[in-house]
This record gives sequence, C-alpha cells and structure tokens, in this order.
Amino acid sequence: MTQGKTALVIGAGLGGLALAIRLQAAGIHTTLLERRDLPGGRAYVYHDQGYTFDAGPTVITDPTAIEALFELAGKPMADYVELLPVAPFYRLCWEDGTQFDYSNDQAELEQQIHAMEPADVAGYQSFLKYSRAVLEEGYIKLGAVPFLTFRDMLHAAPQLARLQAWRSVYSMVGQYIRNPQLRQVFSFHALLVGGNPFATSAIYTLIHALEREWGVWFAKGGTGALVEGMARLFTDLGGTLELNADVVSFDTQGDRLIGARSRDGRHWTADAIASNADVVHTYADLLGAHRRGQSEARRLKSKRFSNSLFVVHFGLKRRQPQLRHHTVCFGPRYRELVQEIFNGPNLPEDFSLYLHSPCATDPDMAPDGCSSHYVLAPVPHLGNAPVDWAVEGPRYQEKILDYLERYYIPGLREDLVTCRSFTPVDFRDELNAHLGSAFSLEPVLTQSAWFRPHNRDAQVSNLYLVGAGTHPGAGVPGVIGSAKATAGLMLEDLQR
Ligand SMILES: Cc1cc2nc3c(=O)[nH]c(=O)nc-3n(C[C@H](O)[C@H](O)[C@H](O)COP(=O)(O)OP(=O)(O)OC[C@H]3O[C@@H](n4cnc5c(N)ncnc54)[C@H](O)[C@@H]3O)c2cc1C
Repeated sequence: MTQGKTALVIGAGLGGLALAIRLQAAGIHTTLLERRDLPGGRAYVYHDQGYTFDAGPTVITDPTAIEALFELAGKPMADYVELLPVAPFYRLCWEDGTQFDYSNDQAELEQQIHAMEPADVAGYQSFLKYSRAVLEEGYIKLGAVPFLTFRDMLHAAPQLARLQAWRSVYSMVGQYIRNPQLRQVFSFHALLVGGNPFATSAIYTLIHALEREWGVWFAKGGTGALVEGMARLFTDLGGTLELNADVVSFDTQGDRLIGARSRDGRHWTADAIASNADVVHTYADLLGAHRRGQSEARRLKSKRFSNSLFVVHFGLKRRQPQLRHHTVCFGPRYRELVQEIFNGPNLPEDFSLYLHSPCATDPDMAPDGCSSHYVLAPVPHLGNAPVDWAVEGPRYQEKILDYLERYYIPGLREDLVTCRSFTPVDFRDELNAHLGSAFSLEPVLTQSAWFRPHNRDAQVSNLYLVGAGTHPGAGVPGVIGSAKATAGLMLEDLQR
C-alpha cells in the first residue's frame, strides 16, 4: 500500500524531475527540493536581452523515454512540450576544410563515407550492425534495470563478453573503419556523456544506433522548455516543487533516513529520500554525520571522474545561415588532446569544440534576425588541472571566440551582443559537482553497472540515487533511465 506514503527528491535535474513524476504518478506524495532558483540542473536556462541560452543538454535522443513519462501520467505530451526533429544530426568539421553531415539517411551517409574512404562503406555497415546489437543489450534490456548485486553483473557478463565490452569505443570503431577522420566521426559520441573514446567501454558505441533508431530532437523553445514542461507535469499531478531549497543534511534514525534540512532552516520528513545531487556531495555532506556517508564518500573520492567543460554562451545580432544546429569543430589533435583533457596536468592550449546554434531549428531562441549560440570546450576537471579559472577563463574565452571567428563565424566580434561563460569552478560551486566534473563518475567499464553507485544504498535502506552518478549514467536518456530504475525500487519498497 502506497497510500499516505511520502518521498523527497533532492535536486531537480532531469533525473530528479523524471523520478518525481514517476513517484507522484504512482500516488506517492512527492516533494522535489532544488537549491537553485529554477529546475533543470545542468539543463538550466538563461534569458538575456531576448536571447534564450540552454546551459547544458541540447541533443535530445530517445524521445520515447520522455514520452513514457507523460503516458504514465495520463497527459498528452503535446500539452507540455513539442519536440522538433534536427537535420542533419551534426555537422562535423576539421581545420583542413573537410565537412561531414551526419544524418539519418543511409544513402547520404554512405555517399559521404565513400568520398572519404571507399573501403569504409562496408566497414560502416558492419559497425552499424554491431552498434545496434549493443543498443539492444546495453540500453533496451539493461538501461533501466538496477544493478544491486554482483549476481546482476554476472547475469549480464556473457552479453558484455560477446560484445567485447572490455575494448574501448575507439578501438572498436578502428576495427571497422580505417580513415582517421571517419574514426573521429564514429567515436566522438562518448564525449557527450563524459567518456574518453580511448578508455570508455565499447558499450557506448550504442549512442550511434540510438540516434539512428529514434533520431535527434530539440525541444521547441529550448531544452529549458522541456524542463519547464516536466516540472509543470509534476505539479499538475499534485507534486510539490520547492525552489531555493538548498539541502544541507539528512536526518537519520539508525540506518534509516527520516527527513532533510535546508540551509535556511526548513525541514521535511519522508518515508523515502532520493538524491539527484552529485554522489560525493550526497554522501560527504548530506549523509556526512552518518558513518556510511563518511565511508562511501571516501570510497567515491578515489574513483575517476569525468572531465569538466568550459562553456561560452553568446548572442549575435545576425543570423548565421552557414551553421547547422550542432557543429563539432575538431582541432588539430584528437588522441593526445583527449588524453590531456582526461588526465591533465594542464589546460591544453588547443581544443576541439561543440558549437550550438539552435536558431537553425527554432528561430525564436533569439530576437528577430539575431542568433543565440553556445560553444563548449571539454577541459580537465579541477583535480586533474588546478587551473585558476578567474584568471584563465577570460583568456580562454577570447581564444575560443577568435577561433570561431576565424573558422566558423566571420564578423563574430562585431555582431556580439551578449556573452557569458560557465567554468569548472561554476560546476563545482553552482551544482555541487565533485571536482567540477560535468558528468560525474567517468563511464569506464570498472565504474559502470554494478560498479557504479547503486540506485539504492546498500546500508541506508531508504536512501536512493538518481541521475548521472548512478546506473546507467550521464546523458539525458541515461538519467531518465536511472529514474525508471530508481522509481521501480522505491515503489517496491514503499508498497511493502
Ligand atoms: C554543457 C553540457 C552539455 C550537455 N549536452 C548533452 C546533450 O546534448 N545530450 C545529452 O544527452 N546529455 C548532455 N549532457 C549531459 C546531461 O546534461 C547530464 O548528464 C544530465 O542533465 C544530468 O542530469 P542529472 O539528473 O544527473 O541532474 P543534474 O543536472 O546534475 O542536476 C542535479 C540538481 O541537483 C541540485 N542540487 C545539488 N545539490 C543540491 C542540494 N544540496 N540541495 C538541493 N538541490 C541540490 C542541483 O542544483 C541540480 O539542479 C550535457 C551536460 C553538460 C554539462
């Protein structure tokens, strides 16, 4: 019986929102506590002089996982948010002028591959087959199933072995594809979820099949509109969303949680609590007064964390019709650059960039005739390169804008209306992200599935995790899948 049962979800990132919707839809009275003034977490949104800037995720894949939340609530998704198809999925560019429009059209893809390396057409066909097999095993079957015991891991082991999960994304792509630029085309996806293509398990090649299967989408009005729609769905169902609620500690009774307290002295009680906040912050700070919090935080701090990001949001007084919605701008180095991003010890002087130009799909993201953008550079986290971002940030921003002006946006400086940046220090201070990591624990095989912090704590039996730090991991489909896994456990426990 769930009647009268209550839950708290700490953090209104996409994982926290999806979990809160699932719990509330199942009749658990749920309160969602968010420390910032708006929900979304990494999917925060800034509005400035008529420009809309999504802070984080812009590539929306597997819309069926989002639709499922509205179906569960018995509400038409169209009343809350509209998803627009993005074409091409991405434009990939190199400094030598080579371009590759990565789309969902098999003939078009093969034609472009043929132009770069005729022998790679057959290789690509085999890679796609492999990627589809991984999608089936790694995402469709296991993406929303919690790995609580080592037996769960053993159960999945034969499939993982068959798919050669111990190999890296790049090594698997390299088995099928010869051309160095095409190897970049089919391996860069790992970076979208904080993975090093040279170290992350080949399981992450499934992102390619995921995009081919369900497409790449953009919420009309931006990812912020998706967040807003999910928050509205939650409150329409009767859930309570408390903003500016910075949770500082859990109240415990033995090995159970009984409530949470905020910095401004408010207090909530609940039968079950899920944290969508960073996993180290959850254990070290929120559960820090309990011995389990201290020991788990120590253990987690010894893990490898994903890279951070340096993000510049900028508005221009002109449209940029030469740009596609998503552009990946490869710099001069790939393997060496990625190694430095994931291991430090310094901020690399060169970069590869992702450029977001949403007006290509939705012109309303900027005032008439203008365009909004963000550009991000993957950079080492604060533990790998202790950069003084107050000094380095402005210099790095200028360097990136110069680069864009030279290769992608002629006249950028002259057209610049507004500009702001978000550094690894902001990830740490605004989002409580350990070491300023943008994606939590690095998704290597030894930190995935059962090896990742579990969706339910092993000792504090009514503490649950949801979001990038738990199974299956970062990325919008990942955290929405984690909400499904965690909701299943919470509902089972609350129904006892
Ligand atoms: C710049 C960027 C671009 C990205 N692009 C993509 C993309 O295109 N596609 C994709 O699929 N993925 C992308 N990702 C990854 C994806 O955005 C994240 O993995 C995902 O949004 C994380 O969601 P989450 O549920 O873990 O919560 P988070 O977004 O991490 O939110 C956690 C929330 O908890 C709150 N919180 C923390 N501590 C407390 C506390 N003590 N009390 C109350 N609240 C607290 C925070 O304020 C935050 O709102 C991107 C990430 C970044 C940073």
